[in-house]
Amino acid sequence: MHVFEGSLSFMAFPVVAFTRKDGQKLSMRRLAVLALILASLSTTTSLLNLQSWHSGGITILWPSNGFLAGALLCVRRRHWPAYLAVGFLVDLGINLSLATPSWVAVYLALCNMVEALLAGTLLYRTIAPNPDLTQRKQLTRFLLYGVVVAPAVASLMATLVFGRQGRHIMSHIHTFQWWFTADALGMAVMIPLYLSFARRKLFLGRSWWEIVGVFALLCGSAVAVFWQTQAPLLFALLLGLLMIGVRLGLAGSALGLLVVSIIGGFFTTAGRGPLALMQNVSLTTRELTLQAFIAFSMLMLYILEVLRAEGYRLQEGLRVSEARFRLLAVSSRDAILLVNLEAKVMYASPAVTEMLGWETEQTLGLSYREAFHPEDITVAESVFKDTREGRHPGMFQFRCRKKDGSYLWMEASLRLYRDSSANDATGFVVVMRDISLRKAAEDELQRAFRMVEALASVDGLTGIANRRRFDEVLQSEWRRAQRDRTPCSVLLMDLDHFKNYNDIYGHIPGDRCLRQMAEAATQVSRRPADLVARYGGEEFAVILPDTSCEGAIAIAEEVRSAVEQLQVPHSGNPHGIVTVSIGCATQVPPVDGDLSELLKAADSALYVAKSLGRNRVDAALPVLLP
Ligand code: GH3
Ligand code: MG
Ligand code: MG
Repeated sequence: MHVFEGSLSFMAFPVVAFTRKDGQKLSMRRLAVLALILASLSTTTSLLNLQSWHSGGITILWPSNGFLAGALLCVRRRHWPAYLAVGFLVDLGINLSLATPSWVAVYLALCNMVEALLAGTLLYRTIAPNPDLTQRKQLTRFLLYGVVVAPAVASLMATLVFGRQGRHIMSHIHTFQWWFTADALGMAVMIPLYLSFARRKLFLGRSWWEIVGVFALLCGSAVAVFWQTQAPLLFALLLGLLMIGVRLGLAGSALGLLVVSIIGGFFTTAGRGPLALMQNVSLTTRELTLQAFIAFSMLMLYILEVLRAEGYRLQEGLRVSEARFRLLAVSSRDAILLVNLEAKVMYASPAVTEMLGWETEQTLGLSYREAFHPEDITVAESVFKDTREGRHPGMFQFRCRKKDGSYLWMEASLRLYRDSSANDATGFVVVMRDISLRKAAEDELQRAFRMVEALASVDGLTGIANRRRFDEVLQSEWRRAQRDRTPCSVLLMDLDHFKNYNDIYGHIPGDRCLRQMAEAATQVSRRPADLVARYGGEEFAVILPDTSCEGAIAIAEEVRSAVEQLQVPHSGNPHGIVTVSIGCATQVPPVDGDLSELLKAADSALYVAKSLGRNRVDAALPVLLP
């Protein structure tokens, strides 16, 4: 019965030793706990194995190397010498206490350490960063390196030395087999168990009642199966192991296998259990059969565990990605719509309600023809058509009807989506955003721009066009006249003795006088294409498109007379009132003509008018013009 007590005490040890999170610091306390567990494991299994050896059987289970390898995988490699030293000393001590000759004890301990070190080294890169034997890669490497290669190398080492010692106790049995199966089993059970405890990912989070209940059931059935010698009930244990695997995960499976190995080993070596039914075979064969049973059960359980974990990870991955996409759709300020090929809404994200006031359900089945402003439907139609035909029209803007009947300016981008299996176009993904603020800002900007533009072309004092505007208009009229082969006339007008007027009456009446002059000229030039501008100071200019020289002179005369009729007193002018002198010029612009010639001619005519007594109109002779 001491074997049972041993196994139970062993089950409690890892909890005591490895619930500490910090595996990075080397502490004496951890090493002491490790030594204690290794000693307990070795003593317990030695008792079991000794019973087998004495009955002529093989070593049934050697778990301490697996435990040490598990510990190595959970600590930094610089701590390995200390761990291996502890393992070596414990092993040596146990062997010496079993009256093993000292050199044999040393060599045995050395082989054990090589096994643990090899398993640790081969598995460290794969397993240590994130131990999870339910991942295929980790499990395969673990089975290959931990369960096969490391025990095989240690077994070879043992065979090389002890195989030749004909009279040694171990030469009775096949040394390799003796070592390999027990150690492989120990590794297969202890490494997953250790890693599960170290990660504290135990028993799939089941309640302690369930854990204790399931283990009690397994122990009970293992004892029942191995106690009786009437029926080959070994298969019945599979059910218990399967149950433990399903309910308690990898750690449960490993611990269950350990329990079955110990109970099965104990009773089988004692000549009981289903394996005792095997006729005419040695104890070694029975024990090997038991080990094979455990190995197959283990493979089954571990594969089951990997499949289950993969299924869970897949499900979890799907759940996470579904939640992520839902979060994106729900929290996006842009409305995301799925629309079928008939342009009817199949899905609308909640932003639609925020923007348009429609509940998402109310938008289902709606088409843009019902929701868009009538003026925007043609654009939308062509965008849908282009997208369906594989062109990418980019963003388009439209007005969408809100629940309250008003319209909201929106911008949308469209993308065709396809059925993932058949690759057929299934509908459109539409992302829409509210651009009403942007539109309002754009309108405001346009208005401001127009205002600034107007201000920039108007004379502040008189309210008529300024010089900049005059130059622009003259340029374009000149080109038009050039194209149409029509005459273009210009009047340059200058108030007479206006300096005197300012001097005599002051600047404010002077300004009023300038405004009156502007008004008189504007009233006279009535055609829409005519432009009166302040040319500078007390000078004004009029552009008269498509106007002959005679026509220009007539208008100039009208302006002059209108100013005269204003009868604004001006004592500094020999005429006694405010008068104006006007120079006219007309030209049908030649193909390569320069408009400065026209201005120069008008200026010369003005000069003539001034010199011939003022308050008169003079025109540049057309012959003067090129
Ligand atoms: P002329 O008959 O030869 O044209 O003599 P003038 O005194 O009119 O010509 P001059 O070029 O010597 O003087 C122009 C004057 O026009 C000078 C300035 O007192 C006046 N003037 C120019 N711009 C303004 C303005 O914006 N407001 C007012 N009140 N007077 C202006
Ligand atoms: Mg002047
Ligand atoms: Mg003047």
